[in-house]
Formats: sequence, C-alpha cells, structure tokens
Amino acid sequence: MQKHDQDYIKRKNRDTVFHLIKNHAPVSRAQLARMTGMSPTTVSRIVAELDEQGYVLESESVTSGVGRKAAWLTLNRAMVLTIGIELDKTRFRIGIMDLDGELVVLKEYERIPTETPEATVMHIQRTLDQLFDEEKIDPAKVIGVGVGIPGIIDHRSGVVILSAQLGWHHVPAAALFHEHLGYETVIDNELKARALAEHVKGRAIHSRKTALIRFGSGVGSALIIEGEIYRGENNSAGEIGHTVIDPMGTTCECGKVGCLQTYIAEGALLKEASKYSSITNLPELFEASRSGHVWAEQIVRKAMVYMGVTINNILCMYNPDSIILSGDIVEKFHEVRTFMDEGELHAMIWEPLLHSFDIHYSSLEVEGVVLGSGMLAQKKFFRVTH
Ligand SMILES: [Zn+2]
Repeated sequence: MQKHDQDYIKRKNRDTVFHLIKNHAPVSRAQLARMTGMSPTTVSRIVAELDEQGYVLESESVTSGVGRKAAWLTLNRAMVLTIGIELDKTRFRIGIMDLDGELVVLKEYERIPTETPEATVMHIQRTLDQLFDEEKIDPAKVIGVGVGIPGIIDHRSGVVILSAQLGWHHVPAAALFHEHLGYETVIDNELKARALAEHVKGRAIHSRKTALIRFGSGVGSALIIEGEIYRGENNSAGEIGHTVIDPMGTTCECGKVGCLQTYIAEGALLKEASKYSSITNLPELFEASRSGHVWAEQIVRKAMVYMGVTINNILCMYNPDSIILSGDIVEKFHEVRTFMDEGELHAMIWEPLLHSFDIHYSSLEVEGVVLGSGMLAQKKFFRVTH
C-alpha cells in the first residue's frame, strides 16, 4: 500500500472515531471497536491521540459486565468554539457555540442602520472582544465565524450581492470579517442558516424535506433536503417574497408589481392600516381587529389568507414533509395559529397534498440564525487535526 493511502486511511479512521464519540457519548473503547470493526488496539491508539490533543474526556472507570474496568469517553465540547452572528438592520446577535452545537453565550446588540459595512464589522469586533473578556472565553479556541444576513448572498465567494435591509450591494463581507476579527468567515442567507438550525436542533429533527417559511419585514423560505440546504443557482432558491401573485397589484420595493410581500410583509399591513388609523405596529393592528374594527379585521383576515396561499404554493412546488412557520405574526398572535390549526388552512391546500405534511412553529426564534451560522462555520472550518 502506498504511504499516502495509509495516511488517508489513518485520517479517515480518526475522523470516524471522533464522530462516533461526538454522536454516541458516553461510549467505551470496546463499544467503539464493535461499532467500527477496528481492532481494540487501533481504537485505543486513536483515542490516545485524540486525548493528547484534548478532544476527549475520560470519565471515572466503572465496572463493566465482565468485571473489568471500562472508561467512558465523551467529547471535550469546550475545546473548539465557533462564532455565529445574526446581522440585521437595527441589531446584531453574537453567539459562541461549542463542538456539540450548544450555545455557550448569546447576546443581542443595537446597530446603527446607517453604519457602513466596515464600521459594522469593526463594531462587531469591539463587541466580540468585550464578550470574550466578560465571559472569560479563550479567543484561541475559536476556529471560525459564520454570519447570517438577510438578502442575496454568494456563500462561495462570501459576497453580499444585495441586502435591502442592510442597504449593502456587492459587499465582500466574509473578507471584511476575516480582516477585522481575524477568523475565517462564512456568510450565508439568514433563512438558510435558520432552517439548518431547525433541522439539526429544532422542530425538523426527524424531517427529511423541510420548508421553513418566515413572515416578517419580508417573506422568505428555505428548504432543507436530506440534511442539506437547497440553494439553487444563485443561492436564492426560496425567495418567494417576490413571486408575483397579482400583476395588477401594487408596486413592490423591488420595482415589480404585485409581489407576494406587498400583501403580507409587516410594512405592507401597517401601511394599509395607516389609511384608517394611526397604529404603528402589529400588536395594535391585532388589538384593533379584536375590538371589532372592520377595517382591521379585514387586513388581518387578508394577511392570513395570503399566508395560506403561500403555504399551498410551497407545498405544490417542493412537496416537503414538514413546514416550519416563523416570524412575529405567526408566533405572537393566536388568531394566526387558529387559522393554521383549525381547518381554515386545510381548505386552502391542494387536496392531494392535504395529509402529506406537518405544520410546526419555529422553536429557535432568537437563537436560530446564530446557531445555524455557527453550524455552517463548524462544518466549513473544523477538521480533527492530525
Ligand atoms: Zn418584489
């Protein structure tokens, strides 16, 4: 056998043992040998190497069935950290995630909407330095950064093609973060990061085809198929906010007429409401509807109908087994839940697909994007060192 073949097999065996400890801990050496088919000697050698590098922890010996001592191995989760960042118009969140995908810390900060990209990244850098100090976290343990941003993101080159919320056009964000934070950085569309987190840790753990739909300042969706984000050619698959549902409708911020989001984005609902009242937010709109103002009832009703249309269209296009709904309007107002859960939605779904899916509500509201971005960084930058 050639030397590089031997090296390859060694690396592969070490990765296999590492991931078995990660996913099955606590686990003994004997169990690892059974699971891998490797000899006990090989397993012990690999475990010793991983131990030396600090990846595994060995618990106190316990007596196994045959009266011999067996030690339980677990992952040293705190050994490797990644940073997940959610960046939006008026705020950003920073999370620090361990090897197991658990957030060690998650904090939210205000952002000045008019800041330049460079000023934003420097602001984040100062905040992160402070966070390392406050939480007594060793920056040397961080292997990379993931950033979730709303808009069209070229995840391969790390360039924000267009983010209307941030006002960024062709910004080389990954390079900026790398330069100022000093870590390798991956950037992605925030909804795709959120969907990944729901798939790995949230409502869609057992789903094989998940569609996440978010109703908020815009309308978007993201699809996970067999554990992988479905991206399309420009990483824009799922941008349903700009599907045209009425060519005779109102003009969208994108310049086209009758886009879906001109009907159900928060801004559109509040603009419609402002014709009748001076309300400025969704809770006030729903309150007006509850107190019997017909104009408010109609706006809320219309929003729910268009949400139903959106869900039906996604089902027809992708045929997912799970739909995860997220966004304030879904999570904070019981009228919307009632609409989704008690038959009204079902009446809007194309009949052959009626029983083909489950509806879930996002369980990772605040941490979803941060977690997903951290996971993307871990996936891209973490390798068991050899
Ligand atoms: Zn549009």
